Amino acid sequence: MTSTPDFNLLYDQLHRLDGQGYGAYKSLKGAYRFEAFTLHIDHVQGDPFAAPSRVRVVMPQAVAGFPAEVRQTPGRAVALADFLIRAAYQATQQRERQAGSGKRGLIGVVRPSQAILPRSAAQVTAETVELRLTVGLPAFGRRIAGKQAADLLCRALPELVDDTLRYAALDAAAIQRHIYGAEDADALRSQLADRGLVAFVADGAVLPRRSGVDERPLADGAVPFQSPESLRVTLPCPHAGSVTGLGIPQGITLIVGGGYHGKSTLLRAIEAGVYNHIPDDGRHQVVTDGAAVKMRAEDGRSIAGVDISPFINHLPQGQSTRQFSTTNASGSTSQAAAMIEAVEAGARVLLVDEDTSATNFMIRDRRMQALIAKDREPITPFIDKVRQLYTDYGLSTVLVMGGSGDYFDVADTVIALDEFVPQDVTTQAKAIAAQYQTDRHREGGSRFGDLTPRIVQPHSIDPSKGRRSVNLKARDTDQLQIGTEAIDLSAVEQLVEPGQVRAIAEAIVYAQRYHMTPDRPLAQVINAVMADLADHGLDALTDWPMGDLVMFRGLELAAAINRLRSLQVQSVR
Ligand code: ADP
Ligand code: MG
Repeated sequence: MTSTPDFNLLYDQLHRLDGQGYGAYKSLKGAYRFEAFTLHIDHVQGDPFAAPSRVRVVMPQAVAGFPAEVRQTPGRAVALADFLIRAAYQATQQRERQAGSGKRGLIGVVRPSQAILPRSAAQVTAETVELRLTVGLPAFGRRIAGKQAADLLCRALPELVDDTLRYAALDAAAIQRHIYGAEDADALRSQLADRGLVAFVADGAVLPRRSGVDERPLADGAVPFQSPESLRVTLPCPHAGSVTGLGIPQGITLIVGGGYHGKSTLLRAIEAGVYNHIPDDGRHQVVTDGAAVKMRAEDGRSIAGVDISPFINHLPQGQSTRQFSTTNASGSTSQAAAMIEAVEAGARVLLVDEDTSATNFMIRDRRMQALIAKDREPITPFIDKVRQLYTDYGLSTVLVMGGSGDYFDVADTVIALDEFVPQDVTTQAKAIAAQYQTDRHREGGSRFGDLTPRIVQPHSIDPSKGRRSVNLKARDTDQLQIGTEAIDLSAVEQLVEPGQVRAIAEAIVYAQRYHMTPDRPLAQVINAVMADLADHGLDALTDWPMGDLVMFRGLELAAAINRLRSLQVQSVR
């Protein structure tokens, strides 16, 4: 048995390495026993400008001291790990500010969004607490700065760990608030289905964000959410007691109101409600069915063999829409495909905003029906399909639509926003629909139509590039690179952290390697991957422990695969 060397050895070695070529840092790889934890140096950067080195700190609970009460359920362990990452992130930011402009010798941890998510960066068990970090190993030019490295790894890092991984050093009340908030959100979400709801927005919630690029709550002038009485529900929570708010029923819900009255903001809060949020987010009691999917028009995307015939038929030049492929979709075909793909991947709720929809996909009014005969118009608009989607497949829709009252006919619930305050206007909307008939012809037939599962051809995914067998890159939430191909994810709006995109990139390779077989439909492949992640965590995706992966939903994994331009599929008939 070899025992783990002491941290003094690391200290001495770093001093010895001082002035040597940067590559000599590679010899550091390994584990070192510090007084309070073990430091694992898993990956050493090849040069000063490469991506920083990756390390892990594993601290026994005997030192960390987190009581069972704050970590004993899976939900609490996730919320606690989220809290620790935030503490560590803040500490790294503070160091960075002190360090000034020179970025040398930085310690990094993955940057958390407003959502509480399982991340590979921290894990809490009954035995240990683990934190994964990056360190930029210091250099003078291309030579090792050994003294600085010793200061970084043997002083600064232990200090940071001491401040952020021990229960005694942290704010116990803040930890409890964090954990209880997440547990309450889980409890609220778990009651939705039984109550016949798809989403819940608590009274007092703050929905608007600070800006388009700042996800924190609007600081000044936010109008707190207030539910209309007729749609108000009261749900019990384990910690916050009874919470009242708006219950959005299953079926078809329309959100209407004048421009700038808060419609899209409400829908975005509902989108975000598939995740739990930190206590001061303003939306920590806004929860949505976990299988709700935001979808939008996305012209220019590629589509691989999707049966969009429920929405689109008789294209010019006789193109089939039972297995529709294109490298350059129109607004309407992209939205039709996104919807069918989401249903295929297990969506239960569709979230649609007029702001980001193709008009000809959403509506086709009486006058247009008169001018352009049905046999000259390939599109059956969503208005004629939305009801069937619910009756045939149980999919609810929440739709922001301030521009067309034609939807009054098909809606179960109509909510009007007036200066950010929601009113239940269902009765008025129905009366108006009866008084002013649209005289539209219903175009959708009597059934939604078949959903045709697809099997991905594994060879159509190639993660290699040049000499590298796996080339993956993901820097933000808008794009990932796999092999030589960039997948545009800017229309996949419910991705909130770059780490989710990184994990999805790994998951695509993993799915191809282990789960894509010639007879397995895509939905089953996705489920198999997600089951592995539920059993083994994000580390199942990689050969060695990464610190920058963040949990994602199967729906977003499917969305990424569906946007691969090289994708080839076979339909299951
Ligand atoms: P709409 O979709 O109805 O046109 P938006 O949701 O885009 O309106 O909101 C318009 C503006 O009002 C945005 O800048 C948004 O941040 C702000 N806003 C939304 N809800 C609230 C609220 N409850 N309190 C204060 N400002 C809000
Ligand atoms: Mg809007």
